[in-house]
Amino acid sequence: MLPLETTREFVLDRCQARKSVRVRVADALGLVTASEIIASQNIPQFPNTAMDGFAVRSADVADAPCELRVVETIAAGHAPQVTVGPGEASRIMTGATIPPGADAVVMVERTAIVSDSAADGEIVRVEVSVPPDNHVRPVGDDLHAGDNVFPAGTELAAGHLGVLCSLGMTEVEVYPRPRVGVLSTGDELVDDGSPLQPGQIRDSNRRTLLALAHRADVETVDLGLARDDPAEIEAALAIGVQTCDAIVTSGGVSMGDFDYVKAVLDRIGDMRWMQVAIKPAKPLAFGTVGDVPVFGLPGNPVSSMVSFELFARPGLRSMMGHPQPIRPTVVAFAAEDLLRRPDGKTHFMRVLATPLGGRTAVRSAGGQGSHMLWAMAKSNALAVIPDGDGVRAGDKLDVLLLD
Ligand code: AMP
Ligand code: MG
Repeated sequence: MLPLETTREFVLDRCQARKSVRVRVADALGLVTASEIIASQNIPQFPNTAMDGFAVRSADVADAPCELRVVETIAAGHAPQVTVGPGEASRIMTGATIPPGADAVVMVERTAIVSDSAADGEIVRVEVSVPPDNHVRPVGDDLHAGDNVFPAGTELAAGHLGVLCSLGMTEVEVYPRPRVGVLSTGDELVDDGSPLQPGQIRDSNRRTLLALAHRADVETVDLGLARDDPAEIEAALAIGVQTCDAIVTSGGVSMGDFDYVKAVLDRIGDMRWMQVAIKPAKPLAFGTVGDVPVFGLPGNPVSSMVSFELFARPGLRSMMGHPQPIRPTVVAFAAEDLLRRPDGKTHFMRVLATPLGGRTAVRSAGGQGSHMLWAMAKSNALAVIPDGDGVRAGDKLDVLLLD
């Protein structure tokens, strides 16, 4: 049996990031930058007010309370027209440019309009003195032109997209989202809702694997369902290779008489058949057909999901340019015994991880058989149980938090 880490390294070596492309910022959520982003301008570009209030000369209000003549009202998005002279102030709205002459803002809550006569104009009473730069956001307060904003390899989240927009960028250089085809194989599978004949079951893997791929932020392609028939499997894989950047299959990679996926992939691809020292998901077929990585995952529903999580997800994230494609584990503690038998494998138990007193408590999500999809569905984490007898209530353990 191969260690998990060695197997994953083998996979990641063959899942390199693809050639970068320029995409619209509007389409870039979740993608990874292929080059560093340098600020082309200062943000903010002009000094502006953080508060609604009055732009003043700080020296004028040093002996507040005092009264100032209001010479202008400046709204956000409108350039000031009047210089604030001694004894004067301009009413100003959050985000509006600080007018020339003024060097500070008094928030509106610390002021009162004391007269608004036709003869004298508007007079504001300022209740407090303020230092220079009070509530003023200076040029470049957030970013300076030339700053290295985000290094290459940054996953673009909501805030990142906002920064790109602030900088006036409409496009960004990223690694493309791979198109990932998902294929189910097996004579027993039914996917059209028709009544089950004896021995038949519903195809559940394709939906879960498509959903996991979607959550991994790749583009998904449903390659359908192939019977245990070499010609049918080869035809489906051929479509996959033509239309996708990576393929995920489930089933047909074990030692059974009708596990033809193995035979076909061996003929058309450069595959490695691996027994990984983990449970579930011991068998893994991985390789390439042409330059398309193919993940041949085991058929048991839980195994296929765990295998996707441990191998396919990191591989696909690596193709997307993620510098850290493997989910980090977090340290938790067992809220109950999580027992197992020694068998030379690392077990990935389906568990529920919940916050408890500043720590993460972990308990079993239910049946641990590799066909028991219900417990997998109810779990939110995989507990990493090293070879041995398992962990006891109160023990520390590593967990992989799932989406
Ligand atoms: P295999 O790897 O093809 O021998 O399949 C192992 C087990 O997983 C068998 O019990 C299959 O019926 C089951 N299985 C395979 N593919 C699927 C699928 N797409 N959905 C649900 N169960 C499956
Ligand atoms: Mg099968």
